[in-house]
Amino acid sequence: MKRTYDLIVIGAGLSSLMFLNQYLKKNNYQSILLLEQKKTANNDQTFCIWEGPGLPNITEEFQLKPKKIWKKIVLNNLNYEVKKNIYPYNYVCFDGKEVLESLFKSFSKKITNLKKEIVTKVYCKDDIQIVTTDNSVYFGKVVVDSRNNFQKHEIKSALVCQAFVGSEIELTQDRFKPDEVTLMSFKQNDDQVEFTYILPFSKQRALVETTVFSVAPCLESIEKIHKVVLENFGAYEEVRQEKAILPMAVISPIEEKRILKIGIGGGMMRASSGYSMRRIGNWALRLKSDELSEKSISIFRYRSNKCLNYLDKIFLNVILKYPEKGPYLFMKLFRRAKISSLIRFLSDTPKGIDLINILLCMPKRLMLKGLIEKKND
Ligand SMILES: Cc1cc2nc3c(=O)[nH]c(=O)nc-3n(C[C@H](O)[C@H](O)[C@H](O)COP(=O)(O)OP(=O)(O)OC[C@H]3O[C@@H](n4cnc5c(N)ncnc54)[C@H](O)[C@@H]3O)c2cc1C
Repeated sequence: MKRTYDLIVIGAGLSSLMFLNQYLKKNNYQSILLLEQKKTANNDQTFCIWEGPGLPNITEEFQLKPKKIWKKIVLNNLNYEVKKNIYPYNYVCFDGKEVLESLFKSFSKKITNLKKEIVTKVYCKDDIQIVTTDNSVYFGKVVVDSRNNFQKHEIKSALVCQAFVGSEIELTQDRFKPDEVTLMSFKQNDDQVEFTYILPFSKQRALVETTVFSVAPCLESIEKIHKVVLENFGAYEEVRQEKAILPMAVISPIEEKRILKIGIGGGMMRASSGYSMRRIGNWALRLKSDELSEKSISIFRYRSNKCLNYLDKIFLNVILKYPEKGPYLFMKLFRRAKISSLIRFLSDTPKGIDLINILLCMPKRLMLKGLIEKKND
């Protein structure tokens, strides 16, 4: 008879590793099986978060090494530019592969088993979770599932996708301003929100991403636009690439008895930004010292802030119905809002006063239209 693990964790991505990093600081006595489909980690992700007063310090708490930190942010379109000094806040960037390796190293000796296998099925029989992979069958009391496999009925808002193609490039001439991160450099586009995101690591090296917010993005056409964007920088060498299509939606997973959904499928992606590292980190840092079991599972479940969800739903409706207004919405918000309020809002830790500030700075008529669309949902 095969053993029954206390926990089976599916996926060794950001949410599982941040979870295990914190959970295993407080709980050492459970048997844990970690299942990951990828045989090796790829160097194809860059994670950025805001850090500063009022926000849990993810860099320190998870002992991560930033690749670069910026104190100035820029947004622009054809007509004007918004440039802000964000002190005492920082925009912090991490190498994705390094983050995952460092998180894994922090607890690797404490887990019972790691298997590089693809999970094909999870079901319950006689109060035990049965996890089938391409190679074997495992038994667990509780499953922590980080697969991004949410169902249609778990989506509680409009579903917009964030699609991007990014290249870390090295130029032969100085073209970048290493102390300024360009969050959004908007292009005129009536069908989708389109912008370039530039993370400059030096005067000649940067990660340049071409991004669209769209209902049905096509990576091939983004790649074509991206090539033109890169050519505008002159001669360049592409060091590495990253690309993805990520869901931007309010997701509320169905609660199953012995399954803890985490990560994007667990509703941990911030719908209005497509960022999830901050939300995952905040959640993992709040974990209590209880052992995760069938009885205690409810205190582990991620519950998103209803007020943020409400605003995100309106925002998604605006992006969906009036994509041509997207640049105006973002530029207005970044230009008018108090930067501390905006960063705490974007980082899931707004105070009441931050929400009031954000509401006052949003374009009223546009948000009202989004609200009406929401009522029609
Ligand atoms: C290129 C890129 C850049 C990003 N940049 C940022 C950023 O700057 N800031 C930010 O906050 N967020 C960013 N994100 C979004 C988000 O933070 C990441 O997607 C994050 O990895 C989400 O964590 P997760 O655990 O939900 O998913 P993942 O990290 O994808 O983890 C899921 C894991 O489960 C494994 N898995 C899936 N199915 C199976 C299966 N059937 N069997 C076994 N294993 C399985 C996967 O291989 C993966 O390792 C970025 C995402 C991408 C792709």
